[in-house]
Formats: sequence, structure tokens, C-alpha cells
Amino acid sequence: MLSAFSSLGQILLDVLFPRICCGCDERILEKGRIVCKDCERAMRPLQLPLCPRCGEEDSQAAAAGKCPSCPRGTIYFEAARAATVYEGPALQILERLKYRARSEYAEVIIPFLTRAAKQYYDNIKIDSVVPVPLHRTRQRERGYNQSELLARGLGTALAIPVIPNMLRRVRHTPSQTHLDRRERAENVKGAFVAVNPATVGNKVILLIDDVYTTGATLNECARVLRHAGADAIYALSFCRAELSS
Ligand SMILES: [Zn+2]
Ligand SMILES: [Zn+2]
Repeated sequence: MLSAFSSLGQILLDVLFPRICCGCDERILEKGRIVCKDCERAMRPLQLPLCPRCGEEDSQAAAAGKCPSCPRGTIYFEAARAATVYEGPALQILERLKYRARSEYAEVIIPFLTRAAKQYYDNIKIDSVVPVPLHRTRQRERGYNQSELLARGLGTALAIPVIPNMLRRVRHTPSQTHLDRRERAENVKGAFVAVNPATVGNKVILLIDDVYTTGATLNECARVLRHAGADAIYALSFCRAELSS
């Protein structure tokens, strides 16, 4: 009897407050989901082969060792990989996580990141998971650092310690959206410091960011960590975006 009431209650709740998919805004009928199965399927992994360094998709130039997508100049990370492509539901979920205060959407992303970490970095002995920090002004506006939420979820899934404050963003950098590759690299130069080099020395670090576009931000973070004594840096993002300009 009780269960008949509770399922009736659930039906009423579903009618009054239908669950809406965070990727496509359609109603979700399956219990306990915030993303629908179609959206989940649409967030596809990148197509192999990837550039061994920056993780760019299916690049013939990469195979020839001349990848047009790798950061220019010295590259301080061993490899960068992403879980999916910045389009469709992935784009929608990430925009909402960042700009509409939907911190619970990190929960949708974490399984994708975990799968990618296992696919690409399973043979790497990672000591710490470290998010790319936001400047404190932006973090105050947003209420959280989305990359930190992702790093914490991934750290828990992989049972690897997360050190959210290994890096600090000391400069409030303008938005990168309309900058080209060279401008992006300039924009983030000197924006980060290693807070406590004693926690960095001889460590293998997995750096987490939400989107990889030119790799400028991750490369600058990796540069700072290497100079602070880190052994090796691997990068992982939820999405891989194309540079629009
Ligand atoms: Zn959907
Ligand atoms: Zn590359």
C-alpha cells in the first residue's frame, strides 16, 4: 500500500515538476537522471588517432610530427587529452555549469572525465589531481570553480589526492573568447603561481580544466609547476574546442 502511494507520489511529482535533461531540455522519463540517454550518447570520445602531445583529433599532420594544434614554443605538459568535443549537449551542460550556477551539472561530467582518464592515463602513476584555478574575483562571482568540482569528483573516482590550491591565479585575465592563438598565450603569461612548491616537487600531476582550446592556459600552468619542481604534468579537460578566430 505504502509503495503504491509512493509511486503515485512520484507520478504526481513528475507531472508537477518534470525532470528536464540538462543537455537538450526534453523531459526525462528514466528515474534519477539529469541527462538523457541521447545526450549522453552524443557526447562522443575523440576520434583516434590523436596527436600524442596535445590530443588533437585524427590529425595526419600529427602523425607526421607536425601538429598544427600543439601550443607554439616549449610544451610543458607530457600530454593533453579531452573526454569529448565542445558541441551539442556537452557545450550546453558546460555553459550552464559555468554561467548559470548549476554546480550539480558537474556530476554529469565527472563520469566522462573518469572514463577518459582511465582510457588515456591508466599506465601513469599520478600523485595529485590539480584544477586550473580561477581568479578569486571570478570565483566569488560564480560561487565555485567548475574545474575544481571536476577535479574533486575525478580524484574521488580514481582515489587520487586532489590539491585544489596547488596553483593560484594571481592575475585576473580578460576573457580568451575573441583572442587568437598568440594572444591567448600572451594573455595567460604570468597569471599563475605555485602556492607551496614543497607540495609540487617530484610529483606527477594531472591538471584539470573544463575546455581545451589552444592549450595556452594548461601549458602556462604546466610551466609554473615544472619550474616549481614537478616531475611531469598530464592534462585532462572535459571538452576539446576548435579555435573560432
Ligand atoms: Zn538530452
Ligand atoms: Zn598536437
